Amino acid sequence: MHIYDDEVFKMACDQFQVIADYLNIDKNDRDRLMYPKRAMAVTLPVHMDDGTTQTFQGYRVQHHLTLGPTKGGTRFAPNLSMGETAALAMWMSWKCALNDLPYGGAKGGVACDPTKLSHRELEAVSRRYMQEMIPFVGPKTDIMGPDMGTNEQVMAWFMDTYSVYQGYSVNEIVTGKPVSVGGTVGRRESTGRGVVYLIERAMDMLKMNPEKSTAIIQGFGNVGSVAALSLGLKSGVKIVGISDHTAALYNPKGIDVKAAELHVQKKGNLRAFDQGDRIDPNELLEMPCDILAPCAIDRVITEKNADKIKCRILAEGANGPTSPEADLHLNKRWDEVFVIPDILCNAGGVIVSYFEWVQGLQAFLWTETEVTDKLFRILESSFTRVIRRAKEHKVSHRTAAMAIGVERVMKAKHQRGLFP
Ligand code: GLU
Repeated sequence: MHIYDDEVFKMACDQFQVIADYLNIDKNDRDRLMYPKRAMAVTLPVHMDDGTTQTFQGYRVQHHLTLGPTKGGTRFAPNLSMGETAALAMWMSWKCALNDLPYGGAKGGVACDPTKLSHRELEAVSRRYMQEMIPFVGPKTDIMGPDMGTNEQVMAWFMDTYSVYQGYSVNEIVTGKPVSVGGTVGRRESTGRGVVYLIERAMDMLKMNPEKSTAIIQGFGNVGSVAALSLGLKSGVKIVGISDHTAALYNPKGIDVKAAELHVQKKGNLRAFDQGDRIDPNELLEMPCDILAPCAIDRVITEKNADKIKCRILAEGANGPTSPEADLHLNKRWDEVFVIPDILCNAGGVIVSYFEWVQGLQAFLWTETEVTDKLFRILESSFTRVIRRAKEHKVSHRTAAMAIGVERVMKAKHQRGLFP
């Protein structure tokens, strides 16, 4: 299907085929499960500050509508394509199904570099994108959330734009909003908190002492920075490596992550942060540590470095950080590297988004403790099911996690039947 032609989409399809073979899925069902249900591409003309008009390309992909509305983030990134958006939507489907959320997967975004846009330009791109998407999304059809390059402010603009067109406040159209406009307390931290909850569960299972363990976190955005802070300050793990798109730092004596966070708040990135040796970002992934958490982009663990990573736990905070070729290597190292696969590891974000959506629909208010308790209960159940299935069927954690998700969607498709 050439509209989705892209390496990341191919990767998501290859992963799906591994699961389809393991589950013996009939060939008549495979394409139906794999290809997105529908997609929309839009061109966004925007007035720039210098007086020119620039056009941006925007996308939204809804992967399947079998279990309810679709749900997924909105990514603002320079090279975003329809294919990558489709891959991310497919991963959202398996993630939501694994965690028993009543959603199909979706993803969307704009091909733009948000760091190069002024505040006013970012607002114009965000509002124009939502305006173009109005016929395609809705609180019962497709609910947007944040992803790479977007934040609470962008979600507030989305919500406002949609609401102005409806004539009343529709805060359940997006999640990850600021608390002041119907956001849920703890949503911003939820993905990072979930990553750390699962790392702690894995450490407990593997009888590792957090205070004697070290961690390297790739990515210092919403996921990586919260994970680094919580792992370093609450769990007592020594953070020996951090990175973002401007710098990679390694310090075997430990990095003060609070200082790193304050630095990023002031300067916008880690470029001038000086606690540690500056090393090649790829090399950082191969440095010795107990926990390696890729929390940035896709395909950073490949067949080239899969045998070189030296961690005991690989916690996938990003979407798709490990390529299927790398998985073949990691599967052989199953007793050395304990993988917490992405659709489990980073599910905290969409789980709390689900709470926010329910709160919006029913005008409920929940405290942060209630939200976090509910989040951990869902993650605990998913973690236990994945580990049990992997053990019983002697398959990798990724295969177990994806199989649970794919099976749930397939069962629902069979029970609903094919129309007409
Ligand atoms: N972007 C997040 C993810 O990849 C979730 C988005 C949402 O909350 O809908 O899981």
